[in-house]
Amino acid sequence: MKYSKRHYEKLLSITKNVYGVKVKERKDLWLISSSNCWAGNQSIELGIYAECWYELIAVLAHELGHCLSVRSGKAISMATYMIYIHEVPLSKREAKLILEEERRAWRLGFKVLRDNDIEVDGRMLKFRNARMRGHAKTVKRLSA
Ligand SMILES: [Zn+2]
Repeated sequence: MKYSKRHYEKLLSITKNVYGVKVKERKDLWLISSSNCWAGNQSIELGIYAECWYELIAVLAHELGHCLSVRSGKAISMATYMIYIHEVPLSKREAKLILEEERRAWRLGFKVLRDNDIEVDGRMLKFRNARMRGHAKTVKRLSA
């Protein structure tokens, strides 16, 4: 699939207008994203960079996935996530919950793409897998 700015803007518009999630684009960040999805007004901060549309689209979809996960009631608590963010040692249960949350965010985000006729191609799947391996490594290190 040839992704373009048009696909990114479509997802941006869906994120804001369909799901009511604010997106703050930051040109000074590279591939860093976060979502403040536990707040009443959910928002995403996204480091944007040109010419890599499939990564940008995948990252935005993933962060939206976290917001949708919270809405579904299945997401891990903010407290558990903060433990992870601050690299505090994790219990087995917390480690499992965090990886489940990451997996769920990818699944929900990619569903939004597919439901809106934005293909999820092999590069996006590879990108997701690499990110999941990163999380698995971090979780393993923190649970040791
Ligand atoms: Zn995530």
